[in-house]
Amino acid sequence: MDNGKNRKRGIRNLLKSYDPVVILGMIVLVSGVILLTYGFVPTTQPKTLLLSAGPVPLSDPHGNYITNPELYFKTNYNGTGSMDLVYCSPEAPSGFYCWGYQYIGTMISYSMSSRFYGAGMIILAGVSIFTGYKFEPLKPKGPHLRPITIKVDEDICVSNGVCVALAPSVFQLQKQNNPTIFAPLAYVVNPNGADNDTIIQAAQMCPTGAIIIEDAETGERIHPPFPKS
Ligand code: SF4
Repeated sequence: MDNGKNRKRGIRNLLKSYDPVVILGMIVLVSGVILLTYGFVPTTQPKTLLLSAGPVPLSDPHGNYITNPELYFKTNYNGTGSMDLVYCSPEAPSGFYCWGYQYIGTMISYSMSSRFYGAGMIILAGVSIFTGYKFEPLKPKGPHLRPITIKVDEDICVSNGVCVALAPSVFQLQKQNNPTIFAPLAYVVNPNGADNDTIIQAAQMCPTGAIIIEDAETGERIHPPFPKS
């Protein structure tokens, strides 16, 4: 039971950590390798010799409709060798065209189509995995990967410098040239000075929620969850 749960959790984690394009690429890669490998497995096939080929009419000389052209072709063969295999295909409007073969032993053959399709699938999988890793086109982007905007609400900043301590290349305290100002307020010195996780963590540690982080593309509020009044 626990094993089943662990397996499900493992699959969920795998799906979360990889882009679907990468996962699809891995499946195609495994299938392609299997198919390509099969293309190198020798199989024994009967070896045949073409004895005769020719047309078969729709009806025999007595006017009877020919319902089994393979049998008719075989029965009317009077050459040398034993006709073991007959193929016929319809040929409008005259009737059929047939080929008669004799088995003359066996031969080793390889599935060239498996090699061809296997190699194609491996190339396709390589492109898919590269694209998924490089660009992650289908993976939902978490807050740590989205472009963000950062603002400091000066009305509620209490200047304790926690954000500066946690992300000094992003936040700084304003220079205190004016003696009438009670305390230096925090401001954003470089919005790209740290990764999103660090910036969000600094915002979460701000005691007053003065640091506002939004998704730069959608405007969605990332932190704090709702605007402070
Ligand atoms: S942590 Fe918050 S309150 Fe403290 S300085 Fe930074 S913005 Fe201001």
